[in-house]
Amino acid sequence: MSTLRFFAVKESLKRKPLKIEEPKRRSEVFGANVFNETAMRQYLTKEALSSIMEAITKGTKIDRVLADHISTGMKEWAISKGATHYTHWFQPLTGATAEKHDAFFETIGDGMAIEKFGGSQLVQQEPDASSFPHGGIRNTFEARGYTAWDPTSPAFVYGTTLCIPTVFVSYTGEALDYKTPLLRALHAVDKAAVAVCKYFDKNVKKVSASLGWEQEYFLIDAALATSRPDIVLTGRTLLGHSPAKGQQLDDHYFGSIPSRAMAYMRDLENECMLLGIPVKTRHNEVAPNQFELAPIFEEANLAVDHNSLLMDVMQKVAKRHNFSVLMHEKPFAGVNGSGKHNNWSLSTDTGINLLSPGKTPMSNLQFLTFFINTIKAVQTHEELLRAAIASASNDHRLGANEAPPAIISVFIGAQLTKVLEELETVTKGKLSPQEKTDLKLNVVGKIPEILLDNTDRNRTSPFAFTGNKFEFRAVGSKANCANPMTVLNTIVAKQLIDFKEEVDVLIDKKSMKKDDAIFNVLREYIKTSKAILFEGNGYSEAWEKEAKKRGLSNNKTTPAALKVKIAKPSVELFENLGVMNEVETKARYEIEMEEYILRVQIESRVIGDIARNHVVPTAVRYQNILIENVKGLKTIYGEKFKDFAKEQLTIIEEISKHIEAINSLVTKMIDERKSLNSETNIEKKANGYCNKVKPFFDDIRYHCDKLELMIDDELWPLTKYRELLFTK
Ligand code: ADP
Ligand code: MG
Repeated sequence: MSTLRFFAVKESLKRKPLKIEEPKRRSEVFGANVFNETAMRQYLTKEALSSIMEAITKGTKIDRVLADHISTGMKEWAISKGATHYTHWFQPLTGATAEKHDAFFETIGDGMAIEKFGGSQLVQQEPDASSFPHGGIRNTFEARGYTAWDPTSPAFVYGTTLCIPTVFVSYTGEALDYKTPLLRALHAVDKAAVAVCKYFDKNVKKVSASLGWEQEYFLIDAALATSRPDIVLTGRTLLGHSPAKGQQLDDHYFGSIPSRAMAYMRDLENECMLLGIPVKTRHNEVAPNQFELAPIFEEANLAVDHNSLLMDVMQKVAKRHNFSVLMHEKPFAGVNGSGKHNNWSLSTDTGINLLSPGKTPMSNLQFLTFFINTIKAVQTHEELLRAAIASASNDHRLGANEAPPAIISVFIGAQLTKVLEELETVTKGKLSPQEKTDLKLNVVGKIPEILLDNTDRNRTSPFAFTGNKFEFRAVGSKANCANPMTVLNTIVAKQLIDFKEEVDVLIDKKSMKKDDAIFNVLREYIKTSKAILFEGNGYSEAWEKEAKKRGLSNNKTTPAALKVKIAKPSVELFENLGVMNEVETKARYEIEMEEYILRVQIESRVIGDIARNHVVPTAVRYQNILIENVKGLKTIYGEKFKDFAKEQLTIIEEISKHIEAINSLVTKMIDERKSLNSETNIEKKANGYCNKVKPFFDDIRYHCDKLELMIDDELWPLTKYRELLFTK
């Protein structure tokens, strides 16, 4: 009997939902462990508080003396919350979060000790970070970088540690993390959008990007998940035959949340409340044991931090409930994968959502300006946006057997399509008073505040307008949102700058009225952005053909998708907007390609090992049992035995064929790997892993999965899909 598998199944059957303690009202504990304005008012002097507030709103520097006041106040607050240590919390390019804990505790001689946390320790730290990916930015002899406090994201206490959100940069100032370019991109879009807002409202001083992510994930019993070496080592199953029942009945999606999962969610939500992560919705997703969690949207930098923190907290809370959380985009073949919709908008410090239709023609013209500019930005930079969500694991969704496709397109709904059609016919040059009145009253003024067709209906669109925000749906569940948010905000910033320039030329050189100039530029954008607009089913061959005709990219694999990142126009775009210099852009490309290679390499090793060490030996064992059986039949029946052993003999032969196929495929795959490992050109190597190594996975899997169906269930060593997916 296969010991580990059945032990795991037995364990999983014994589980009970965990009882958890809960606050009566969540609002009362919300942000209790965050050094937010309320806490700061209590622990900081007036000057220290206002210097932080200025740093947050205007990006001003905090002076050294005040930094000392702040750190002392922060320490006292943290200790009151049970903290003993502090850490600079940052997001290196490995995709996880990093922290190195130091105690507040310090000795001061004569056997005495105090708790200390100085301003310099708050502001800057030097983690021993030589093994974080850096894409060649840091030479090994100066393999050091430093972390610097980001006051725009509040410090928080998690467990017994005060966590201070920081950026992570090299000594020469290059970004080594996700946050630095994001902050720069948010600054760029702020500046560009404020300049455009001035056409409509002179009082706007700041525009912030907002992000509301929706996190999908699988919850699998911990014993079952850890019984599978592929899940442990790669986060997904590399083998496993589909169960007789999958997601076809939709009974999970519409069903109630299973009680163990519910206890986990409530526990997780309570942790989120303490940490100030405003989670609001939870529900079952399409696949069995798949769920989703979404917060109220926040300023993009904070939302990114909160998502990174959440992914960490999800794993920690899961331990208490004996669950493993699978964040991988495609943990199971044959059922839906997981994504992370990024809902995005821009809003002003005067309280206006720039992507929300308003009440007056003027506010709607402002809405249309931002709406059309975003479409135009996506049209121009669709390939870059695709690159921003590329990863080995997300390749299993995009361009594979699942919506959304690898082709970026924008869904806007019938009502707005009609508005754009009308705007396209606006007269070239100056508009007659009659036309302007007509436009304002009958086109711009008639956009309803609630757009009926802009709900979630078109689920196949990778970039959909959903009433008052765009929803970037192709982001991977495992991804750090910073990367797609950096690119989206950068391309929109660039587009808004171009727009402003074009409008100003018409106003200054052609002496057009402001409105006329805006209508003229928008009309041209509508004409040139048509290729990106698509309302139909994005997951279809017809669309692939059509998209090709329209000249849209369709990069189905990570190595193909990433290439555009280092193309000259991309490098210049990031450089000119101050988001990343050439060194940073190229380093990121290298890191992502390297990561891709490593992921595929690991998967290749794991599938080879499991096939050879688990599947083949089990197949041989079962074959031997059959051989014994046939021998026995022969002893009893003599030459007539064949009448009774037909089935056994067929299976014996089938097993041999599959074993032979597995062994030869694994050998060939290893040979491909060996020849690639001496390849020094990163592009060639990544392409090799993509096109020469990875294709073996499906073939090896095919034979292993066939054996799974054939071999005595009692002998099969790998926990089966039905056990992984249907154990509550
Ligand atoms: P649903 O799509 O389920 O109907 P909503 O449209 O209310 O729900 O929101 C979906 C997600 O979009 C939520 O996570 C929410 O926080 C986010 N969201 C809503 N408005 C905005 C906005 N202006 N900017 C960014 N995200 C937003
Ligand atoms: Mg959504």
